Amino acid sequence: MNKDLLGRKNRKTTNNSAESIYHEIIAGNIAALSQGITLIESSNASHREKSSELLKLCLPHSGNSLRIGITGVPGVGKSTFIESFGKHLSDNGKKIAILAVDPTSQNSKGSILGDKTRMEILVKSKNVFIRPTPSGISLGGVARKTRETIILCEAAGFDTIIIETVGVGQSEVAVHSMVDFFILLKLAGAGDELQGIKRGIIEMADLIAINKADGDNLKNAKHAQQDFKNALHLYPPKESKWQPNVLLCSALNNEGILEIAEETEKFQNLVGENGHFKKNRIEQQKYWLFQSIEDNLKSAFYDKSDIKIELQKQIELLKRNETTVFAATEYLLNL
Ligand code: GDP
Repeated sequence: MNKDLLGRKNRKTTNNSAESIYHEIIAGNIAALSQGITLIESSNASHREKSSELLKLCLPHSGNSLRIGITGVPGVGKSTFIESFGKHLSDNGKKIAILAVDPTSQNSKGSILGDKTRMEILVKSKNVFIRPTPSGISLGGVARKTRETIILCEAAGFDTIIIETVGVGQSEVAVHSMVDFFILLKLAGAGDELQGIKRGIIEMADLIAINKADGDNLKNAKHAQQDFKNALHLYPPKESKWQPNVLLCSALNNEGILEIAEETEKFQNLVGENGHFKKNRIEQQKYWLFQSIEDNLKSAFYDKSDIKIELQKQIELLKRNETTVFAATEYLLNL
């Protein structure tokens, strides 16, 4: 790892070429890392060009981190958990980058990570880099930018990437397909714990952590733990051969955090040895390649000015029952 890592050099590069930003990033210059991420987030065409050059240069230095996704409903304690978990990891010598995928951030002021004061301790740690979601773009846009940001963070020497997301829409699927280990944070409450949980999310989880297992809530949390354990037995074994566990924690009191960190280590060892780690990363690349082709084809189609006009005409014909969806599709695609 580079000696200059994290903090020693922290000045913006005066030479703004992709190459000079790249050299600063791999030397661990955090200001240059932020500069690179800003390029990635920009929609300006010349920035786009520069950022792809930068990514190309950084790519050979990336891929060496453990990427951890964390999801859970608002209020479950994600920020508190990341603060506590992140502190544990950084106390153990890890260099952590914390990113967020929050497609709702354009319309909610309290977007995740937007308010860095929620992670007071981590913000001050020089082994930790926090970057909130870029705002005002679609989930597809956020997902792409986050995947590219991961590459820059890894090139800058971060060995643990934590990606937080809210349980909204497809954001969990997007994050699941860019991480190695996926943690679902849950709360114990009255009634049936499993009600109202999207089935797919349990299936994606590599670890379910029941947070706020403290005080009067401990008993409920233990019940929830058992319910989730029973439910997990109903799912087919994972391709990774990893058996997801259900653990209790109190992010607020720093309880159960060590066990969760140990669980991620066990996972890392297992999938490292059985080859799933690499295989999964390749599968993820393939997934994103197809996603990206689809996105590009779609925008290439819809952005054409004649398509825009003809599409409206076909909609009018549909309204008047003068064409069918099938015929309209065929007509538009043949244009
Ligand atoms: P997020 O919206 O998922 O990021 O949740 P926050 O981390 O902001 O936490 C929401 C509230 O739950 C805050 O008031 C926290 O202090 C509280 N909280 C978080 N973790 C715990 C915990 O382990 N135990 C208890 N009792 N409260 C917690």
